[in-house]
Amino acid sequence: MNKNVPAPRKNISRRPIGANVKVRSATPATMVSLSVAEASVPAGEQAVARSAESVFMRENSADRREEVADRREDAADLREETADLREETADLREEVATLRDKAIRDNEDAAYAKAVLGARTEAQLREANERLLVAMVNAQAMTVTAEQATEKMSYMAEHDFLTGLPNRALLTDRLSQSIAFALRHGKKVALMYLDLDHFKHINDSLGHEVGDQLLQSVAKRLQACVRLYDTVSRQGGDEFVVLLPEVDERQDATLIAQKLIETMAQPHVVRGHSLHVTLSIGISLYPDDGKEVETLVRNADTAMYQAKKNGRNKYQMFTPDMNIRAVARQAVEQALYHALEHREFVLYYQPKVNLETGAITGAEALIRLKRADRRLLPPAKFVGIAEECGLIIPIGRWVMHEACRQTQTWLQAGLDIGQIAVNVSAREFHSNEYIAGVRAILADTGLDPRHLELEVTEGVLMQDTEQTTSILCELKDLGVQIALDDFGTGYSSLSYLRRFPINTLKIDQSFVQDIDGETGEALVSAVIGIGASLKQRVVAEGIETQQQVDFLQSRHCGEGQGYFYGRPVAAEEFAAMLAADACNS
Ligand code: C2E
Ligand code: MG
Ligand code: MG
Repeated sequence: MNKNVPAPRKNISRRPIGANVKVRSATPATMVSLSVAEASVPAGEQAVARSAESVFMRENSADRREEVADRREDAADLREETADLREETADLREEVATLRDKAIRDNEDAAYAKAVLGARTEAQLREANERLLVAMVNAQAMTVTAEQATEKMSYMAEHDFLTGLPNRALLTDRLSQSIAFALRHGKKVALMYLDLDHFKHINDSLGHEVGDQLLQSVAKRLQACVRLYDTVSRQGGDEFVVLLPEVDERQDATLIAQKLIETMAQPHVVRGHSLHVTLSIGISLYPDDGKEVETLVRNADTAMYQAKKNGRNKYQMFTPDMNIRAVARQAVEQALYHALEHREFVLYYQPKVNLETGAITGAEALIRLKRADRRLLPPAKFVGIAEECGLIIPIGRWVMHEACRQTQTWLQAGLDIGQIAVNVSAREFHSNEYIAGVRAILADTGLDPRHLELEVTEGVLMQDTEQTTSILCELKDLGVQIALDDFGTGYSSLSYLRRFPINTLKIDQSFVQDIDGETGEALVSAVIGIGASLKQRVVAEGIETQQQVDFLQSRHCGEGQGYFYGRPVAAEEFAAMLAADACNS
């Protein structure tokens, strides 16, 4: 799809939130929830799948074209043969005429010639006529076959081979017809862009054949939800578009969208698996949201992306401000590519302190992006986008390498930093080769793994618990520490605290900053209690006031971090802090 205003692309994976794809075996009653790796759609895999699909289509079309060409050639041969026979017949007729003339001229031989001619020409003419007839029948049959092949070829050019639904080309055609009709009759047209949530996870975990069958099942269900004159088309991958050519008002479209979402909620039984899949839908209307095919498709796609951002399994009408955001997002994405290439990221370090002694126990490495005007862009402005487009993987690798390298330099300079904490996003954590990357960085920088702590959020742990357990155990075996960041803001399931090897709980700053209120104090006390009973270190984040320090000390919270002790600073400044800390202790 050619887009003037850059909209979020499918092959740039969108940001997944929670897990709403559940896969369970139909026979055993047990259900396994498959939480999905953060935006686990590596651009490469989606692109490869699409390109394989299009190669298949192209090959198929090429075969068809060749077949049609063969048929046409056969038909041409037969026509040529027919023409030869006609010529032969004409020659015979000419010969008959010549002989007849001769017979008339030669009265003496007339009777004889007539007899000879009659017998000869009659037999030859009959034979020629018969051959002519056979050739004509064959030519007709060939023409029919060629026509059928042509028809099949044009059907294939307009339909999706997997689901049999109209494809993008036919949808575009129908959409332009609908727009023309709506223009004449003062009607509206609704376009819905649909994307299956976390479909990739099903493909990855159960295989492409199951994925394909699920897509077929989804296609059937979508078709069953709409009217005969509506169009359900497959755009490729797990993206579908529904065209409602005649709607009177917005609500007509939202009602159908709601119906599609509800219908999709029923499980799809594929090869003994009961698969739950949800839909995110974006809706654009003609003429309100665009007057041209391209604009309507692009805006529906943008709205669908927004539906994903809002939590998936939802529909979202397009609004013009979405385009402004999409453009801004695109600008950040470009800046991230540029920054990676030109090394424009920088790490800041914020101290963690022992709340009793005030001594530095470690630092958290926090990324910033250096802008052209030399101002720093905070992570809140770009980490989410980097996660969505997959760039967080190379960025995260750079962060870990730089943090380990810097820590090793400080240690070698005699500055005891304790531990360096590095934030790890779910997408990185669940990416292939994550552990291999950690090992390689430790080996390359020479940092003792005991000095490295990885900060993960509850969301990371809740995804694919089996894989999570095995990664965490490998990290533990390596000697790397694990901290649970922003504790209390996630799924709040305490069972994983026992299940996973977690060394540190970081109380989210929202609770610490609410210490003055009743609930804040109660929650902070509860987390400190949990940490103590599980023998985990507890770090209170976002400490800004003496009152908060006093409360935390009264509750025996071990460590703290916040502006009260020091803001995140550049490496040189942090080295000075470390040196001063060493002098004080
Ligand atoms: P976080 O890991 O919870 O980091 C703590 C954030 O709280 C930091 O914001 C820090 O500057 C801020 N903070 C610390 N003390 C105080 C305080 O007393 N008051 C207030 N209001 N804020 C305080 P920052 O650096 O903007 O980072 C925001 C988030 O971005 C981080 O939250 C983390 O989730 C993410 N992030 C930062 N660096 C990275 C990174 O390298 N990789 C990944 N994946 N995420 C990162
Ligand atoms: Mg953190
Ligand atoms: Mg935090």
